[in-house]
Amino acid sequence: MFGFAGQAILLDIDGTLLDLAPTPAGVLVPSRLQATLTTLWKWTGGGLALISGRSLKDIDSIFAPLELPAVGGHGAEIRPTVARGKVMRPKAPLLDERIRRQVLQLATRHVFIEDKGYSIAVHYRLAPELSGALHEAIASIVAGLPNGAYEVLPGKFVIEIKPIGFNKGTAVLELMEVPPFKGRKPIFIGDDITDEAVFAILPDIDGVGFSVGRLIPGATGAFGQPADVRAWLARIASRVAEQ
Ligand SMILES: [Mg+2]
Repeated sequence: MFGFAGQAILLDIDGTLLDLAPTPAGVLVPSRLQATLTTLWKWTGGGLALISGRSLKDIDSIFAPLELPAVGGHGAEIRPTVARGKVMRPKAPLLDERIRRQVLQLATRHVFIEDKGYSIAVHYRLAPELSGALHEAIASIVAGLPNGAYEVLPGKFVIEIKPIGFNKGTAVLELMEVPPFKGRKPIFIGDDITDEAVFAILPDIDGVGFSVGRLIPGATGAFGQPADVRAWLARIASRVAEQ
């Protein structure tokens, strides 16, 4: 599938590269993954990016000391290169204070609120039985907001409220317009509902996509789990290293 370095590699993080953990801060990065990503980043001439709902700051702290090109906050932040650290659209509209206050009230011992500044996420992996109640609570919070200004993103044991106007798909389109991504053929791997926006635009950018855990519409195939994605990337990296 790979045979030349005209490729870009775009990777979701949670549930794709990394196994999901009980809390967002609890994810583990296997040390070999750092080396794999570094090799592939170099091989693609800098054309490897992480595409995540996490903030850039959070992404960097997870993979530290490694810093990679990335899309953060579902597209609120876009960083095409790490050398100059330039961030496109660094100032996404900040979340309305009323939303923040109301969502923070949903926190319990088993419900964790992640405040990203421009969006806010409610994680309930430790209390899956609260799914229905939390979805209802968040729907009612959003119903009280200016019409159409915000959207609710459902995910795996997470519900997020973010301003409309950008998503992972629009961010990938923007990313692929600038060096070192421009002119490359992207391969994207993602696992969740928010990744569907990327699979949907892949035909527009001559890209190919693979999902994880289930076959998402627009994906060419599916990996079973994150460990399979890591093993596949490691195989490519070891072949590249031999060249
Ligand atoms: Mg994911």
